Amino acid sequence: MNNQAALHSIKLMNVFLVSVHTCLLLFFALIDVHLMVFVNVGSVLFYIINFFILKHEKITLCIFATFLEIMIHMFLAVISTGWDAGFQLYFIGCIAIVFYADYFSVRLGQHHIKGIGFSIISAALYLISLLITRFVGSVYQLVDTLTFVGLVLNSIVVFAFITVFLRMLTKLAAYYEEELGRQATHDKLTGMVNRHYLVDQLDKIYSEQDMSSYWVAILDIDDFKKINDKYGHLCGDFVLKSVAEIIKDNCGDRTVCRWGGEEFVIVGSDSGLDEKGRRPEKVILDRIRRDVAIKDFVYDENTTINMTVTIGMARYQEGQTVDEWVNVADERLYRGKQTGKNKVVDVE
Ligand code: GH3
Ligand code: MG
Ligand code: MG
Repeated sequence: MNNQAALHSIKLMNVFLVSVHTCLLLFFALIDVHLMVFVNVGSVLFYIINFFILKHEKITLCIFATFLEIMIHMFLAVISTGWDAGFQLYFIGCIAIVFYADYFSVRLGQHHIKGIGFSIISAALYLISLLITRFVGSVYQLVDTLTFVGLVLNSIVVFAFITVFLRMLTKLAAYYEEELGRQATHDKLTGMVNRHYLVDQLDKIYSEQDMSSYWVAILDIDDFKKINDKYGHLCGDFVLKSVAEIIKDNCGDRTVCRWGGEEFVIVGSDSGLDEKGRRPEKVILDRIRRDVAIKDFVYDENTTINMTVTIGMARYQEGQTVDEWVNVADERLYRGKQTGKNKVVDVE
């Protein structure tokens, strides 16, 4: 989740709270609980100001302020209307919000909102208001029907509150789980799978499938170090990304991997010959080599770079282990480098 997604959920919460407090304002005005009418006018204004705080993306400040408002508000509501009207339920509902905020404040790298601390404050206020209403009594004496209506409405709102926030929390957790899974298996710069993932995949294919149609190619950018030395690492990264795009564009649904540094691995499963009698993998690799060689990599208006790549390819041979197979491709790559670069080597 990024800042924008967090902001969006907090804005939704704000809209929800403005609505709840407007309803409460009307409710208290109707039953002449004046103290709470004033409190709710303050609350509605507070949430309107919160929208402005959110405009400056001060998410954690907004959460702190919201928590404070709910605590003060509900404490006064319980003291005013008594325990039976159910306003103390919001102290419990609030815990779902603070743990939601706790979770995403860590994810966003913002000031850490510690859910446990807020929970203790909620519990303390719940108990203090219980003791006050039990031993001192409430400020207003509501008729039984009103107390009952209050209890029903408050229960519904608090259940909705808890459900919405816990649902958001589980969605957020699922999102991060997926994202972390992706980060563990994919290279950030190129979006390709990483070496660790590919090796796992190859082991899996090796143990489950007939390998006879498989081929592997290792591609290495020629003289890449010179690009870094001459134009800097950022430009090197740009070239890496651009070469990765060319590889992806040519490989269809075959597996493409950033093997490490400026090396890429392609794994495909192709058999037979095309209409011109050529092997499909050879056509693909020749095309990648050619596309890189003819492309002008325009980094900025003063920097246009030309690159070449060398590729070693090996079809799977009966009886080979995965390591032996990949090593053959690697040895062919090495031979391509030794014999002038910018070529595809696919035979001994
Ligand atoms: P050859 O033609 O023999 O392959 O020569 P080369 O210069 O391409 O190979 P060498 O192994 O000497 O250098 C590879 C360079 O790739 C060195 C390293 O700094 C650079 N490199 C590795 N990973 C990255 C990266 O993610 N970004 C950038 N910009 N450079 C990288
Ligand atoms: Mg290399
Ligand atoms: Mg290289």
